[in-house]
Amino acid sequence: MSLLNQQAFSPRILGMLLELLLAEIGHESVDMVLAKANLPTEIAAPQPASRLTSLAAAENLGRILRALRTFYGRGARGTLIRIGRLLWPRMLESASMTEKAQVQVVRALPLTMRRKAALELLARLLRTRSDGITIHTLDMDLMLVDRQTISPSQPRESAAICYVTIGLIQETLFWATGHEHDVEETGCRAAGNDDCEFKITIGTGK
Ligand SMILES: [Zn+2]
Repeated sequence: MSLLNQQAFSPRILGMLLELLLAEIGHESVDMVLAKANLPTEIAAPQPASRLTSLAAAENLGRILRALRTFYGRGARGTLIRIGRLLWPRMLESASMTEKAQVQVVRALPLTMRRKAALELLARLLRTRSDGITIHTLDMDLMLVDRQTISPSQPRESAAICYVTIGLIQETLFWATGHEHDVEETGCRAAGNDDCEFKITIGTGK
């Protein structure tokens, strides 16, 4: 695998994500899910996670998401989406001064331009290399393409696993516009797609 295609995830954000996961479903449940997947329970410890390399952080995140999906199936979806939504304000709090300046820029934009700018900000906070996560316009809709977070699976997952990212996108858009948006992962690297692709449907605010 070339370095450019290698998975990567911010160790600092993984640490925050694991704190939320442990608070949501509890240490015992997390340990049990990892043990059933023959994974060491240490990989869910927030403090050590925040000191990993970005490659190791992505590998551990992928292992944990796969283990949760195997154990809970579709039942993992709601919990992981909620964790993604809770993660967004924490990421904003811990953003750098330059990133916080971009937050002010996004909030000052007219509503119609704010969605894409907010997703660009999310991509900037998440990405570990320049083309790792990008935002695209698709007719009326938007798409977030993630080439970095999840490694391709062997064996392949039967469905997408990136529910935390769905929650992050939903909360980013809610933060930016005050409206809920439909977000769907239409292709996932864990399920054999080249990239993880998230389609955001515009104009169906609930
Ligand atoms: Zn995915």
